[in-house]
Amino acid sequence: MAGIYIHIPFCKKRCLYCDFFSSTNGEKKAQYVEALCEELHDRKDYLQGQVIETIYFGGGTPSQLSAGEFEKIFDTIHSIFENISDNFEITLEANPDDITPDYLNSIQHLPFNRISLGIQSFDDKELQFLNRRHDAHSAITAIQLLQKERFDNISIDLMYGLPGQTPEIWEKTLRQAMDLDVQHISAYHLIYEENTPLFSLLEQGKITPVDEELSVQLFEILIDKLEDAGFEHYEISNFAKHGYRSRHNSSYWTGAHYLGIGASAHSYNGLSRQWNKETLDAGYRAQDSDLEIIDAKTAYNDFIITRLRMKEGIDLRKMISLFDADKKTHCLQQAQKYIENQLLELKNNHLRLTRKGIFISDGIMSDLLL
Ligand code: SF4
Repeated sequence: MAGIYIHIPFCKKRCLYCDFFSSTNGEKKAQYVEALCEELHDRKDYLQGQVIETIYFGGGTPSQLSAGEFEKIFDTIHSIFENISDNFEITLEANPDDITPDYLNSIQHLPFNRISLGIQSFDDKELQFLNRRHDAHSAITAIQLLQKERFDNISIDLMYGLPGQTPEIWEKTLRQAMDLDVQHISAYHLIYEENTPLFSLLEQGKITPVDEELSVQLFEILIDKLEDAGFEHYEISNFAKHGYRSRHNSSYWTGAHYLGIGASAHSYNGLSRQWNKETLDAGYRAQDSDLEIIDAKTAYNDFIITRLRMKEGIDLRKMISLFDADKKTHCLQQAQKYIENQLLELKNNHLRLTRKGIFISDGIMSDLLL
């Protein structure tokens, strides 16, 4: 099983916190789509004929592309890849503002069967602070419109830990999300990335980050509310109704190979990892991508970091089949103190984060690494 990720680096306006590669210069779209198609041709052998199960259009804001631009990309994909699974998952990341009846009508012949909406919050003040271009009402309308058009696999992104956010505001956003009956929710704590306007506000002392105690409380509310509503907490930041895990993102956490097309996109084929440059020049790929060869140590570290994120945890039998016995010994030795403190549990040959452990997962992971 393999996947394709296609990066669409255009946004109508930039959000306060964002450090993804994207541009508000939409004039370069046509030229960029041509470059994407060329790159697909150039790298058609990267996945070595593996069956493609998932295609993910991420951004940026992929819903800034027109139906015609998507057609070009899909035509190219179909002309190159023969091995596309009948049971594919094709995700379109979209901004709620772009989801209009006309837009949905224009893309209805395209094979998208999963929509991921960047909602972030259902609180207008929070949305304004984040400099999002939608408000709560348009987010709700977008979801209802998608449901009316029979999209039955909708994911929304939410954000918590915003300055001034209270448990009550966060619970209200979660209640609204649950009332809308979406199938999947990704929820991330706000991060203060350098070189963002958000970071400048922090440096100027104009905003105060939430303290650690409140962060933990907001995360606990998230887990409790969504689990009570029937969502499976299948990855640290991801929750799904039964049968609606993100197959594309899950493939990142289970070691599947993926081809990343477009500026800043990452690729992985088990032997190496590759990053395209962050540029909108027509020849964005003509400049060498960065390449990291995956040696045995990196492969083990990747295995720990990705598997421990997931509900299933680290399969120790799989570990033995992939690595030498020393690595399993190292992993279990390092894990021992966390098992004793109920931060990790070892059951049925799987090493998993406990509910308590999830809150300090970064520290635990780094302790298990080589
Ligand atoms: S829409 Fe997404 S990619 Fe674009 S600026 Fe906002 S967060 Fe970044």
